[in-house]
Amino acid sequence: MCGIFGIVGSSEAARSAFLALQAIQHRGQDSCGIATIDRERFPFVRRLGLVAQAFAPEHLNQLPGRIAVGHVRYPTIGRGVLADAQPLFFRQPGVHLAHNGNLINYNELVGHLAEHSVHLLTHCDAEPLLCELALALQERPRGHTLDDACAALARTWERADGAYSIVAALILDGKDTLVVARDRCGVRPAVWGGRSDGAYVVASETTALDALGVEARGDVGPGEALFLREGEPPVSRVIRRDRPAPCIFEQIYFARPDSRIEGRTVYATRLALGRALAREWRQLGRRADVVIPIPDTSRPAAMALAEELGLPYREGFIKNRYSGRTFIMGDQAQREDELRLKLNPIRSEFEGRRVLLVDDSIVRGTTLARTIQLVRSQGATEVHLGIYSPPVLHPCYYGIDMSTTEELAARAFVLEPSGPLSEEHQREMERNFARRLELDSLTYLSVAGLDRTWGGPRCAACFDGRYPIPVSAERRREIEADRRLGHERRQATFRFVG
Ligand code: SF4
Repeated sequence: MCGIFGIVGSSEAARSAFLALQAIQHRGQDSCGIATIDRERFPFVRRLGLVAQAFAPEHLNQLPGRIAVGHVRYPTIGRGVLADAQPLFFRQPGVHLAHNGNLINYNELVGHLAEHSVHLLTHCDAEPLLCELALALQERPRGHTLDDACAALARTWERADGAYSIVAALILDGKDTLVVARDRCGVRPAVWGGRSDGAYVVASETTALDALGVEARGDVGPGEALFLREGEPPVSRVIRRDRPAPCIFEQIYFARPDSRIEGRTVYATRLALGRALAREWRQLGRRADVVIPIPDTSRPAAMALAEELGLPYREGFIKNRYSGRTFIMGDQAQREDELRLKLNPIRSEFEGRRVLLVDDSIVRGTTLARTIQLVRSQGATEVHLGIYSPPVLHPCYYGIDMSTTEELAARAFVLEPSGPLSEEHQREMERNFARRLELDSLTYLSVAGLDRTWGGPRCAACFDGRYPIPVSAERRREIEADRRLGHERRQATFRFVG
């Protein structure tokens, strides 16, 4: 998962990128970068760490120009090193590019580029995408036009299979041009907006636009490329379009609640998911005295669930605001260290009560086991857990670090799942998983409940195993092997350093 940003038509393009990237910092904390075009020069600054700390005024002073692209990175393939920070640059023709997502034929593309004597400097998926785009442009006469870029994108989309959004800055028809494009199913998000002074902004989430006071005009469509130039109307072209399948996990966990994706606020979706879980919980005849969210993501769903069940909603944990998100941290040891810092319970909210905890999802489940122990130690008489999404049973091959099959905690309690679990099967796995977690009950939202609530097209492959962009068994093995290797490298780095 990463965050992308672009702006054109602003006298303070780099500074705007600096501000906006902080509004999508939750999408990646590993590295960040800003790149501009200034009278046919293509400067960039890429740094490790958080935007606010990594960039100083002198960095922004190195980035003149009225067009900028920016990026915050969380690696799903590759390592957390500066060489892998984005945006990336290709000299011929000059193109800055940043991306969010995952290629599912990365190795095949690397082979194809090597046949053309193009070799990579990084381990990130953005580079083969950029190189393919640049190669496709090089085949066309100099002085590239918007039509050339469309043809080059179409060629790139044909070769580069996967789920990704890109933002690129280049010169087309002699003008600085910002391009934002989404994969054929629109799995990864991208939104755009404009200002009355002729400036345009694009980003992974509307929070980046809000940070600049720019009005959001909508989502970039699946397979659509938008070409944006200062003071000119946007030009939209469909590069390659399949059935839309936006990532439902953005709504459940990743995106900020104040973002609007696919025309709705994430906050409203989380309220609705909480209500849907309440209905399923009620049908099971379960009882509790109080609803407590495991902060922060689950708060809106827990509030709506409590309202629907007529139960009191309480804050039982105080979150240390200076610790990071455990899920997005690099490895297991780091995640557990972070958790110890992260949550502190308020005993009076648990003692003598049947507690219904609410969380967004269970991926690896290790931090959860400790949270449940913590609740028991506060004197709760019963501990129940409601999850406002279905069990995560399948890895994501589309850019979210959920990861390898064996890491998914719920997998241990089902036999080889191929589609959504039947109700009976789900209840049985919940009982077995609850025993392992030492819970009185565990209730997931069903896939049917999720679909009734969302009511639109979606990718929910991590829940139901139905991948909208097909991933062959061989490619699944390759991607998971790469991830295991990346995981081992990170652990080796920690052992060496620590
Ligand atoms: Fe999102 Fe899950 Fe689909 Fe991955 S598999 S894109 S996390 S819904």
